[in-house]
Amino acid sequence: MMSESPQNPRTCVRTVVDVPIEIGLDTTVTAQFITFDGLRDGREHFAVRFGKPGPEAPLVRLHSECLTGDVFGSARCDCGPQLHDAIHRLSQVGGYLLYLRQEGRGIGLIAKLDAYRLQDQGMDTFAANRALGHADDERDYSVAADMLEALGVAQISLLTNNPDKRKQLEAAGIKVAEMVPTGVFLGAHNRRYLEAKVKHSGHLLDLRKPLVA
Ligand SMILES: [Zn+2]
Repeated sequence: MMSESPQNPRTCVRTVVDVPIEIGLDTTVTAQFITFDGLRDGREHFAVRFGKPGPEAPLVRLHSECLTGDVFGSARCDCGPQLHDAIHRLSQVGGYLLYLRQEGRGIGLIAKLDAYRLQDQGMDTFAANRALGHADDERDYSVAADMLEALGVAQISLLTNNPDKRKQLEAAGIKVAEMVPTGVFLGAHNRRYLEAKVKHSGHLLDLRKPLVA
């Protein structure tokens, strides 16, 4: 697909700008939003830096955009609670959130909503994507490795339950010192979605102990 020279286009930091964000009632933290030039897929991925993460394995969360969950609080998935949990933890210990613009496991918002319709007819999230001619999961985390490199971060503590993220980052040259598990946000509307994640992509979730209804 890509006909680029052996080296990827060089990713470098473009802009670092302070943004105060509310993380709870009467609690605001100032995070730094960081944009990049030279991202290999040309999408508008960005990083958010919390505190002053040190060079040694800072906490990093890779979050793939989910407009319905992140912005509207959709209960069909657990993206909203995952994002907010990550922001909370990062604001406490410092680290980076990489916000990756690969909506709907990389198939885009419109196809994701088509897939929701198929799910309402009985398919799980992976079968629905395949029925629409997409792979189970089209997310690519190598761009995240480029962003970390541009930030001068070679080794991380990865906040995730998804072993595929670790595998892809390590293949792209980032050392993952440890995987820090995220919370499980099980509710009435997302049980099938979370069960499909465990079954199909080896997510390490214990669905017997809901932490959040
Ligand atoms: Zn979602």
